[in-house]
Amino acid sequence: MIPTPIYSVSDPVSKLPGCGPKRAEALAKLNITTVGELIRHYPRGYQNRGDVRSLKEAAHGETASFVLTVGTQPTTVRLRGGKNVTKCRAVDDEGSCTLVFFNQPYIKDILRVGAVFRFWAKATRSRQGALELYPTAVEQVTEYKRLRGFFPLYPLAAGLTQKFMSQLIEAAISGIQPDKLEEVLPESIRAVFGVCGEYEAYRCLHFPENFADIDRGRTRFMAEELFLFACSVTRNRETRKQGCAPVMKMESSRFDVFLQHLPFELTRAQSRTISAIRKDMLNASGTPMARLVQGDVGSGKTVCAAAAAYMTVRNGWQCVLMAPTEILAAQHYRDLAPLFEGLGIEVELLTGSTRAAEKHRIYGLIASEKPLFVIGTHALLSEGVELGRLGLVITDEQHRFGVMQRSALAGKGAANHGVTPHVLVMSATPIPRTLALILCGDLDVSVIDELPPGRQRVDTLVVGEEHRQRLNGFIDAQVKSGGQVYIVCPTVESKDEADEEGADFLHMGYTALPARGESNSTPVDAANTVGIGAEGENLWFLPEDMQRKTEKQQGESKPPLKSAVDYAEKLRTEVFPQYRTEFVHGRMTGAEKDRVMREFAAGNVDILVSTTVIEVGVNVPNATLMVVEDADRFGLSQLHQLRGRVGRGKRKSYCVLVSSAKGENAVKRLNIMKKTSDGYEIAKFDLEMRGPGDFMPSAGNARQHGEFRFKLAGMCSDTGLLQLAYAQAQQLFEGDPELVSPEHSGLKKKLDELFQRGSAALN
Ligand code: ADP
Ligand code: MG
Repeated sequence: MIPTPIYSVSDPVSKLPGCGPKRAEALAKLNITTVGELIRHYPRGYQNRGDVRSLKEAAHGETASFVLTVGTQPTTVRLRGGKNVTKCRAVDDEGSCTLVFFNQPYIKDILRVGAVFRFWAKATRSRQGALELYPTAVEQVTEYKRLRGFFPLYPLAAGLTQKFMSQLIEAAISGIQPDKLEEVLPESIRAVFGVCGEYEAYRCLHFPENFADIDRGRTRFMAEELFLFACSVTRNRETRKQGCAPVMKMESSRFDVFLQHLPFELTRAQSRTISAIRKDMLNASGTPMARLVQGDVGSGKTVCAAAAAYMTVRNGWQCVLMAPTEILAAQHYRDLAPLFEGLGIEVELLTGSTRAAEKHRIYGLIASEKPLFVIGTHALLSEGVELGRLGLVITDEQHRFGVMQRSALAGKGAANHGVTPHVLVMSATPIPRTLALILCGDLDVSVIDELPPGRQRVDTLVVGEEHRQRLNGFIDAQVKSGGQVYIVCPTVESKDEADEEGADFLHMGYTALPARGESNSTPVDAANTVGIGAEGENLWFLPEDMQRKTEKQQGESKPPLKSAVDYAEKLRTEVFPQYRTEFVHGRMTGAEKDRVMREFAAGNVDILVSTTVIEVGVNVPNATLMVVEDADRFGLSQLHQLRGRVGRGKRKSYCVLVSSAKGENAVKRLNIMKKTSDGYEIAKFDLEMRGPGDFMPSAGNARQHGEFRFKLAGMCSDTGLLQLAYAQAQQLFEGDPELVSPEHSGLKKKLDELFQRGSAALN
């Protein structure tokens, strides 16, 4: 007997059977290079083939499992274009149907009359009641072999199939010795959460026997993610307390000079926030400031950051402000440079497109340790720039709270003369207070809950597909009168299943998972092998394009989600050929995105079709209309964020949410958007309706390089679970702050690894 090979989680995937260089490369596109990463590639759904339907129950348009006896010899008929179709009759106890296979003539040799098979198939019924099945999987039923009930569906990349993925994962898991896995969750924590061990969880998630298994696996890994996050936050806070920051001095009279240079009076909320910042920075004990300034778009966070920068430079230190994109950095520079020049403080803009000579000049200034205010992108700290006298780091629009980056930042400063810089984070994502205390537990939070006077309200409408003509008319009118229009779509290209930058795929996948006993309509995934599976298993998939054809032919599936690329093309060629339409999405490079955004900001583009990448705040005061397609697919906070892109100038502005969703919850959620423009109220509602998952940093987020890669926590619908994780993390660090106990070694290793990754992303 050949002994089972043994794998460790750090082995490269290429060590697994059947995984050559080509496939390893394809896996790398999914961020899978090691065995450990492979087994953490969770299914995004399952086919419940164990839930067998009788033909009488088969509903039009539904995909399900049927166990049938082949009734007639299959016959193949040629179609135009070199295609063919093979058909035969099949029966169960209660009825009969026609099985239809496109371009699979060899199915004849498999489907012998009288033999019994399990088919995973989509059903159609003609008006006369004739039933046709379009199988995408065929497994022979024999008395020797029990057929598996659940088939995992994995997120795939080009060159990979479901069959390959599940075989590879099976090989990996059976080759791992359970006791060699280093448990991240200490036993006591597992007990509190009531979750199983790591190995058991892999089995449950990849090869479930029933729904309870799926739940068990999911709950375990979700608890792990929440707990790790809570630990990182807790550890960050503890580490910060040990840091030593520059102690600033500034009398009120000197600070008043700053206030006198502002073109407006501060709101009460701004004053409160600035006082808190002053108190942090003047703190004689030298504990570094780590403050989050949270406020809705347009609430005036920038001036609070400016106040902190002013104090820093006046005290002889350097300050950097980092924005997520070049265009935002440039915008900050334009807004702030005049103010600081008036105060006699030098401001420099340093981004990827700064010319070499200019870069060198600025590097020189930085190296000279001259007091200075530098504005740039997040790349600022990663270009090997030595900031010898870094006193304050400000980061803007950190939508998903980069907890690892924050701690890496503090570490970076500590390398400079042992000084930890103060950190100020600005975020426009309103989160309910209860949640902020946990998700940003390492930060002190200031909330700007008041808008500067005289802001206009954006009128919001929710419309269905039947209003398309009128909507187009409205878009036309906006552009004609000199305005500009944003149109946001949930996907990049039509073949995509879900938004790649907002929601994560697992979230979508699991929502598609039916509740117990309900029908399973999860579509068959893009599998592109034809042929018989492992010997005796008779696992069989249709090629991908075929599958699409079958879907189209039946024509009953939901209308596809609007995708940015295709929709932009349609607008450009059919609907508004007279206007300038461009698109922008997360798969474009930063430079491409910036170019399009710049064109839009300059008024050279009338209609900008995009995915949620534009969520991050570029200011285009001339934009008057925000249209969100398939609006029910977005979180409310996200919609609120998108709406904040318009109404920034003097022109009356509108937000149109397009949705065909009829569900009670979807309708209720979208109506909230009509009712209020208060981001906190919206966030609170979102939290109640969907749980804290939407507020968690998500896996698919492009801005999250080196960040926490949450895969499951995005589906967390239970705030209690998050609270429990946080309480447990605090308790654990109280008892064992350095994580020296052997029981915590797996946890320590994992946290260190996450920290390393966060630092690496900065360097
Ligand atoms: P955000 O919080 O979205 O970053 P900004 O700081 O960019 O908001 O401020 C939005 C606009 O409001 C800017 O044009 C800014 O000059 C203006 N602003 C900020 N504070 C006040 C205030 N207290 N009174 C009047 N205008 C203000
Ligand atoms: Mg801002």
